[in-house]
Parts: sequence; structure tokens; C-alpha cells
Amino acid sequence: MTTNRGLPRTLRRSGSLPASRTVRIVILGQAAVGKTAMAVRFITKRFIGEYDPTLETIYRHEVAINGDVVHFEILDTAGQEEDALLIEEKIRWGDGFLIVYSVTDRCSFDEVMRLCFLVNHIHAGANRGRSNAEPPPTLIVANKKDLEYDRMVTPEDGENLSRGLKLPFHEISARDSWEETAAVFHALYADVAQQLDASPPSFRRRAVSKLMEKIPRIHSGTALGATGRSFSFGSFRDYLPE
Ligand code: GDP
Ligand code: MG
Repeated sequence: MTTNRGLPRTLRRSGSLPASRTVRIVILGQAAVGKTAMAVRFITKRFIGEYDPTLETIYRHEVAINGDVVHFEILDTAGQEEDALLIEEKIRWGDGFLIVYSVTDRCSFDEVMRLCFLVNHIHAGANRGRSNAEPPPTLIVANKKDLEYDRMVTPEDGENLSRGLKLPFHEISARDSWEETAAVFHALYADVAQQLDASPPSFRRRAVSKLMEKIPRIHSGTALGATGRSFSFGSFRDYLPE
């Protein structure tokens, strides 16, 4: 068990695992770009070809990164035509965002900018009145780079967009590389951790809405696919080591 000692005050939280931090990541992007594949690849190290595209899940996964015990809560979104209130709740919930497109799908690339503005708009609204409000850490991810023959979006397209939006950019293959996939989550974690350290903790934890509590949660210690299992939010007593 880790202790509080040596950690800045902002990292200390009351509860069963005080020297750890919880980072909420929301994966956004058009249908079929590989959001679920990325989340499952990161957590299980395996690439599993097909998932229910309507499945929306919060994956919970614990890893040690640079001496921090990081509790990832990864919201894998689904459903594009959901109502505005729901998407707003999800975006408010997140500390950091992965906006994913597929290099084989131009339309998914065009969607990135809209999603990015949505994230910034909703967080700016939530942070109104704060002088130090920064846009939330966000990464652009181009997935499926293994499908070279089906490529419709070049690496340069991605880099130009990333420059335009001033966001980091990663091109990966969730199918071929666990390392590339994990690097995305680790890079986002680093940005989130930096922002968490810089901002007062009182701003950080937003109340969890009833809507968010309805999303099924799967812990990496439980069998993937066991949907409908719901873990109480904010309690780590149900934590099962890998
Ligand atoms: P989501 O709707 O964004 O969650 O997309 P999924 O994760 O369900 O993936 C959609 C399809 O793309 C599935 O058939 C996956 O097997 C496939 N897929 C996901 N990532 C990759 C990848 O990196 N390379 C290839 N070739 N296929 C992928
Ligand atoms: Mg999915």
C-alpha cells in the first residue's frame, strides 16, 4: 500500500487509496473508428476484432505510471445521435479526451474538429468565472494506420489539423500495436496530471450525475463483456488486482 508521504497536497485524497489518482478519460469519435478496440487493447493488451457498436462502457483500469498509481476510468462512447444533454454530461465528466478518427474514413476525420469545439465549448461553460480555466487536455488519434491500402487521410492531414487545433497528434494501429495504443493513454495522462497539479482540487471533482451512473462499468479485473455489472462510483472497495 502506498502512502501520502512525499506527495503534493493536491494529490492527497481521502479514501482507501489516498496516494493514487483517478483520471477520467472520454473517448470520442465517429462510429467504427476503433474507440472500443483502443480501450480494450490498452486494458487487456489484446486486440479483439468485433464489439457491439452500441455498447457504452466505463472501463476501470489501474496502472503504475512514473511511480503514480493511476486509476483510469475510461468512457468508451457509442451512439452518435444521442441528445445534447447526454453528450454534455459525458464531456463534463471527463478530465481528458481522446478524439479518434480512422485513416480509412475521411468523414471521421472531418468530425474531429466539431468534437474538439464541443469539448472546449462545454468545458468553457462549466468553468465560467474561473480566470485560470484552460481547455481540457485532449489528444487527436488517427487509428487503423495498418490499413495502408484503404488510407484516405494522410499523416500530413492529421499533423496539419493538430497544428491548427494546437493539440498533440498520434497515428496508431490498435490492431498491430499495444505500445502505440498505451502511449496515447500515457501521454494524455501526463497532460491531465499536469493540469490536476496546477489547479485547485476544489474545482476538480464534479458531482456525478444520475445519467453517468447508468453507464455500465467494467473493471479490468473482471471478464470483459460482463456488461450490466455496475460498480458503485467513487468506491474502490470492489477493486480486484489484475
Ligand atoms: P468504435 O465504434 O469506434 O468503438 O469501433 P470498434 O472498436 O468497434 O472498431 C470498429 C471496427 O474497426 C472493428 O471491426 C475493429 O476490429 C476495427 N478496428 C479497430 N481498430 C483497428 C485497427 O487499428 N486496425 C484495423 N485494421 N481495424 C481496426
Ligand atoms: Mg465502440
